[in-house]
Amino acid sequence: MMHMAFDSGRSLLIGGRWEAADDAMPVINPWSGEALGAVACADASHVERAVASATRGAEAMRTLSTGERSRILHSAAAALEADDERFAAAITTETGKPIRGARREVARAVNTLRLSAEEAVRLAGETIAFDSFPGGEARAGHFVYEPVGVIAAITPFNDPLNLACHKLGPAFAAGNAVVLKPAEQAPLVAIMLARLLLAAGLPEEALCLLTGRGSDFGDALTGHADVAMVSFTGGVRVGESICRAAGIKRLAMELGGNGPVIVMDDADVETAAAACASGAFGAAGQNCIGVQRIYVQDAVYDAFQGALVVATERLRVGDPMDPETDVGPMVGSGAAERMIASIVEAVGRGASLLAGGERAGTLVRPTVLANVPRDARVACREAFGPVVSLFRFTDLDEAIDAANRTDYAIHAAVFTESLRTARHAARRLRAAGVMVNDSTDYRLDAMPFGGAGRGNMGREGVRFAAREMSQTKVICFHDA
Ligand code: NAD
Repeated sequence: MMHMAFDSGRSLLIGGRWEAADDAMPVINPWSGEALGAVACADASHVERAVASATRGAEAMRTLSTGERSRILHSAAAALEADDERFAAAITTETGKPIRGARREVARAVNTLRLSAEEAVRLAGETIAFDSFPGGEARAGHFVYEPVGVIAAITPFNDPLNLACHKLGPAFAAGNAVVLKPAEQAPLVAIMLARLLLAAGLPEEALCLLTGRGSDFGDALTGHADVAMVSFTGGVRVGESICRAAGIKRLAMELGGNGPVIVMDDADVETAAAACASGAFGAAGQNCIGVQRIYVQDAVYDAFQGALVVATERLRVGDPMDPETDVGPMVGSGAAERMIASIVEAVGRGASLLAGGERAGTLVRPTVLANVPRDARVACREAFGPVVSLFRFTDLDEAIDAANRTDYAIHAAVFTESLRTARHAARRLRAAGVMVNDSTDYRLDAMPFGGAGRGNMGREGVRFAAREMSQTKVICFHDA
């Protein structure tokens, strides 16, 4: 079995060697409940050694030529592509993501690493026109991008491979070293990725990996004076606590969303409903750009609601390893219980349950709600589970105002055949990306990706992340 290699719990990568710790924790398959193995729980003493090692690794990376950084990342991408089935199976067994989605994630991660390899040789500065202002005559020069040093990369469970690649790829392209802390629930894929990168020729101290609980060693890592930047993807609550612990250093915060979709009366209702069902329930809704709120214009409301319920009930729910499965389990029974509690709260306050609403262990049936009070948890907070709420509207601006009523936004979407409507919505929707005739659940790994509104700090998407993981340095020659 692919996971047996981790049973020893030697999952801490420090100074190029794999180590165990005094404490260990199991990794559980959310579908079967089976323990896939155990990983070491790092503590503050491991952080000290990891950061010291990564500091040496940062020196090695800084002096590595851009061509060599690019070669390592290309060869990691090729190795991942060659081993795609094993990685996909690992994603599915540790997160419960259906295997078709896990295969897509691996393919995307290969692309993320390739984009990083290309960025390594493109991350160049520019000539500066010093003589453009009096006092600059007789000067010539340019700026370059230099690495920031040691980056603490902290990732969530839901895309355990591609989100790690979105931090490691740009960090290495820009010549940094990384201490990676994968999610408690899904550390095994990160361990496989670290092995693959070392085998591809990454300098051995350029990457440390610390498994275990964020609450045990997160503050020691993010607050460490020799960590130059914290790149975090996860929930708002943890993000806030990281910002407090980190103090003054560079921060990238990729937080949650509450994806709104607007369906206009000129839209193709069947296409919009199919896209919304897929965007709401893929990965059991555990998706930061998943569809959570759908605003439908009066004239097509009934038709859209009917089509969405049919598309939802058609989804195959069950064993995530079965290629026919569309919706698998949530990551744990606690997450499933919280999801059902939020659905029950909404229904108790008058929402109509149109589909789903039941739980069996970690499995929550895809749930469609209507008449949801605006301040119910499923509508006003990130749900991060398989539930979607329908709202009826008459006037587009009213729908846009409702869609914008959230603190944390990533993508928003609009279905319409009218260019004028699409452009108006794109201008007025407060989001970091507006998808026209797609649901919120669309991302190309090369595009800028991040948040809008409160807590938005930084952009991923390889080219953008690589710049955030660099600092500019000006070099000016005076012909005196
Ligand atoms: P989480 O916030 O619970 O955990 C994220 C990571 O933070 C984990 O590795 C966890 O171990 C670590 N952590 C916990 N406490 C810490 C501490 N004190 N110091 C340092 N690290 C600590 O998130 P999750 O449940 O794994 O993932 C779901 C969340 O991630 C959702 O809110 C989702 O929207 C968000 N997300 C955002 C994006 C994006 O790109 N914007 C992508 C995927 C997921």
